[in-house]
Amino acid sequence: MDKNLHIVIAGAGMGGLATALALAKKGFTHISVYETASNLGFVGAGIQLAPNMARILDRLGCWKDIEAEACDIKETSIRQGSTDHELGNVDLNYIRGTYGYPHMVGHRSSLAGSLYAGCQREKSITVNFSTRVIGVDSWTPKPILRLQPRNGEAYTVSTDVLLAADGLKSVIRDQMLKDLNIDAKVVDTEQAAYRIMLKRSEMEHDPELLELINADKVIRWIGEKRHIIAYPVASKQIYNLSTAQPDKNFAAAPSATYTTKGDKSVMLKTFEDFCPMIQRMLALVPDGEVCEWKLRVHSPLPTWVHGSVALVGDSCHPTLPHLAQGAAQAIEDAAVLSVVLDRCPDSSPESINKALRVYQELRKERAETLVELAAASGRALHLGEGAAKAERDKQFAALKEKKGAVPDKWADADVQRQIYGHDCMKVAEESFDGLFKSL
Ligand SMILES: Cc1cc2nc3c(=O)[nH]c(=O)nc-3n(C[C@H](O)[C@H](O)[C@H](O)COP(=O)(O)OP(=O)(O)OC[C@H]3O[C@@H](n4cnc5c(N)ncnc54)[C@H](O)[C@@H]3O)c2cc1C
Repeated sequence: MDKNLHIVIAGAGMGGLATALALAKKGFTHISVYETASNLGFVGAGIQLAPNMARILDRLGCWKDIEAEACDIKETSIRQGSTDHELGNVDLNYIRGTYGYPHMVGHRSSLAGSLYAGCQREKSITVNFSTRVIGVDSWTPKPILRLQPRNGEAYTVSTDVLLAADGLKSVIRDQMLKDLNIDAKVVDTEQAAYRIMLKRSEMEHDPELLELINADKVIRWIGEKRHIIAYPVASKQIYNLSTAQPDKNFAAAPSATYTTKGDKSVMLKTFEDFCPMIQRMLALVPDGEVCEWKLRVHSPLPTWVHGSVALVGDSCHPTLPHLAQGAAQAIEDAAVLSVVLDRCPDSSPESINKALRVYQELRKERAETLVELAAASGRALHLGEGAAKAERDKQFAALKEKKGAVPDKWADADVQRQIYGHDCMKVAEESFDGLFKSL
């Protein structure tokens, strides 16, 4: 493989930055990233840093910085939202020993910032902000993409490989599907999320809230059709809450609307039957700073690859956040892409296409399985009164004797083995030759 070929990446989110960095670490010398936004952007929210993500970030040389300010999670507690009664508790101390990395939680800006700092250290990577990909004119033998700078004339770029990490609203995916005559669309999940960050100084006057921010714990409070997941980030200076509730505000919104300033009284009403401690936390959110996100996914895609173009991350496997694996899976995509392009025997468009199809073989089933598992976990957590909920709560109760599966799938040891125990780069290295030959 000619390491000087040109690789273009659309989007500088978690998937795009990780892909650029992973390719640079494999010795590729000409990597261009194009990003619509004028900078990395700042999403004030936390993120779970699972061991399968940490393992890759460590290989990319950016885990140490993230780890320094992330919080090491020792346990998770699943509680009834209305009463704060603990339904189940899972010890997570074993994770570091078993999977080589801890389960941590951090600030999104810390993850994005460290990936970007890693990219800046690589001479081979150029990140072009304020430049939107507006279309693809050719998929093979050389992809040609059209770019629109914020202040300037549109232009085209010809490349050897195009990797579309342009997120759930991916224009490249939509154009690829159209070109292949595939009918698949963004799908409404009928769920939305508030993302909230409370400062330590706002919580420390209240002993119960202080206990929450001081604990090395992820807490999920659940209720019918709703839940709140919360944990400390930024060296416990911030308490991060992320909710899930039925979507009311976006129901009539155009499909391009993903975030909105929420109404605080509506947020309080949504969780009005949750316990007083939660009410006190939600009351701390400043008026005018309630931000609600629409949660959308995508109907399954028959392919992620067209010619010398491949989809990455949320552009091809957007997920509900209930398994906390969206960014982790985008980073796994990045890592596997770096292996298959590195191992590709030559830089002909035929070989590149085959290598990208090996990537698809290695990634599609796993990513889609986790998307379905996240949706299933949400269904179990959001049950209303009835036999199914009684059965679920029996499973939670059995956990006290350390028996059985955890209905909250991200806390289940078998699911953790499936997710955290998978070293996607090792598997890609080991199976590349066989898969490449078989295609
Ligand atoms: C409430 C919530 C909680 C979550 N919690 C977790 C968690 O705990 N752990 C976890 O692993 N994941 C979590 N996720 C999922 C995670 O945020 C996403 O899966 C992840 O950010 C996807 O990365 P990406 O790079 O594929 O897409 P994005 O992060 O969406 O990045 C796409 C980038 O492409 C740019 N772009 C878009 N269109 C164009 C264009 N035409 N041209 C150029 N640039 C373009 C965008 O500006 C953006 O920067 C959560 C998601 C939500 C909604």
